[in-house]
Amino acid sequence: MYIGRFAPSPTGLLHKGSLVAALGSYLRARQQQGQWLVRMEDLDPLREVAGAADDILQTLEAHALYWDGEVVYQSQRQSCYEAALAELLASGQVYACTCTRKGLRQQAAMGALGMIYPGICRDVQHPFLGRYAIRVRTHNMPLCFTDRLQGTHCQCLETELGDFIIRRSDGYFAYQLAVVVDDHLQGVTEVVRGEDLLDNTQRQNYLQRLLGYRQPDYCHLPMVKNPQGQKLSKQTHAPAVKRAAAAANLVEALELLRGSVVDEKITITELERLRQEPPEVILQWAVAHSASC
Ligand code: GLU
Ligand code: ZN
Repeated sequence: MYIGRFAPSPTGLLHKGSLVAALGSYLRARQQQGQWLVRMEDLDPLREVAGAADDILQTLEAHALYWDGEVVYQSQRQSCYEAALAELLASGQVYACTCTRKGLRQQAAMGALGMIYPGICRDVQHPFLGRYAIRVRTHNMPLCFTDRLQGTHCQCLETELGDFIIRRSDGYFAYQLAVVVDDHLQGVTEVVRGEDLLDNTQRQNYLQRLLGYRQPDYCHLPMVKNPQGQKLSKQTHAPAVKRAAAAANLVEALELLRGSVVDEKITITELERLRQEPPEVILQWAVAHSASC
């Protein structure tokens, strides 16, 4: 059975870019007669905006994007991440890192994905104290995956990123570990999300291998850009979608998904007609006109 999910971070309200990810993953799941789960990625209370989690859920409902089962909150799943960490500790593939960001800024080279950790603590055997970050050892073989929409992408984790963090020095688990553990425990068979996360996938695949998890399929949706050509995100101050304009928002999102998750042959006239319909009807139509990406 197909299981898909939408996994917003409550670091801001739902904007057009996240609505496209929600709709894209919803349509894939419904087209496959599968389940569509919602997981709140509230791992980091410092980045969370008060009220955003509830607001996101209400906005999904206003767009008739109804999910299956209960919403899962990452903030309540520490024990799952602890268990995965314990497995990684037992495998000897992780180590404690005492480096500070300031120290690394002086020593580490910058790569396309940020600072490349030069392996300073790799063989030092620092004790696993709560105040130290935990990194996973990487290697230099290219890791590749084939995305349903974006084709094949490879990364050499060691040279492009270095050993990466799975638990931060402030004690919070890193997104990379939590996402892999939850997708596994929730039985997710296909991950549909924005293209901005494409280059995170190999790190996730690597952790899946170390933990012996099945690798889901991937479908990274083209990014939504603002008129300045920047991707819509909280960093570029993308405005929140208005619940009162649900039909128009859905039509606009469908237009952006045309050619990926939505059949490229649908016409502007058809889309314009949908604007008058309630969200439920628009979604029904969209499921019937979704493409198998
Ligand atoms: N929580 C992540 C975000 O909002 C998405 C995680 C994912 O879909 O893998 O950017
Ligand atoms: Zn270190």
